[in-house]
Amino acid sequence: MARRKKIYEGKAKTLYEGPEPGTIVQYFKDDATAFNAEKKDVIEGKGVLNNILSEYFMTGLNNIGVPTHFIKRLNMREQLVRACEIVPLEVIVRNYAAGTMAKRLGMDEGTQLPRPIVEYCLKDDKLGDPLVTEEHIAAFGWASQQDMDDILSLALRVNDFLAGVMYGVGIKLIDFKIEIGRVYDGDFMRLIVADEISPDSCRLWDIETGQKLDKDVFRRDLGSLTDAYTEVAKRLGVLPKGATPMAKPTLIN
Ligand code: 5GP
Repeated sequence: MARRKKIYEGKAKTLYEGPEPGTIVQYFKDDATAFNAEKKDVIEGKGVLNNILSEYFMTGLNNIGVPTHFIKRLNMREQLVRACEIVPLEVIVRNYAAGTMAKRLGMDEGTQLPRPIVEYCLKDDKLGDPLVTEEHIAAFGWASQQDMDDILSLALRVNDFLAGVMYGVGIKLIDFKIEIGRVYDGDFMRLIVADEISPDSCRLWDIETGQKLDKDVFRRDLGSLTDAYTEVAKRLGVLPKGATPMAKPTLIN
C-alpha cells in the first residue's frame, strides 16, 4: 500500500494529494481548538459529523449554482475536493451580533443587525487572524477589487442559502466564516467556496430556546459538542432521526 503525500496539516483537517492532478483529499480530524489553539481537546466523532455536514452544505451550494471546491465524500472522514489557491482571508458574515463583534462594539449577543455585515480577517495564526479593511486587502495585494466584488457576492449568496436552510429546521444562523479559493480554467481565474462549512465555523442557535448548537459549546464549556452537532445533523436529515450521539464512530476505510 502506497503512503499518501500529506500536503498540509491544519488544526481540524489534514490535506492529502488526491488521486488525480488538481484534486485533494480533505480529512476531518476530531481535534478541537479555540482562542488561537490556546484551548485544545480531542472530541470523538466531531470529524465525522463535520465531514457529512460540510458535504450537505457544499452540495446544496453547488446545486444552486454557488461554486465550491467540493467534489464528493469518500468515506466517514474524508472528502475529495478541487485543489485551489486559498485567498489569505477569512470572510465572516454576521446576521446577529455575537463573538468578537459583540465584544468590539459593546453589543448584546443576539442583537439582530440591520443587514448582513461582512468582515474580513487576515488568515495568520501568529497574529490571531486580525480584522482588516478592504484598504489593507487592496494595498497589500491579498485580493483585487474585482475579487472583492466576487467574494462579497459569494459570501452573501452563501448567507442566504445557509440562513434559509437553517431557518427551515428551527435554527438561527447568527454568523459564519468561509474561505475562498482561486481555480484556474485556461486563461480564466474563478473564485470558489473552499475549506469547510460546519458548526465549527458557524454560530447556530435554536430559534425557540436560544440553545447554542455550534463550536461555542466547546469554546465556552456549555456541554457536549457532539450532542450539539448531532442535533444539527439530525434536524437536517443527514443522520437517522433515532441516531445516538456519535461517541465512537467506526471508520469504514
Ligand atoms: P468571531 O469573529 O465572532 O470569533 O467569529 C465569527 C464567526 O466566524 C463564528 O461563526 C466563528 O465560528 C467563525 N470563525 C472565526 N474565526 C474562525 C476560525 O479561525 N476558525 C473557524 N473554524 N471559525 C472561525
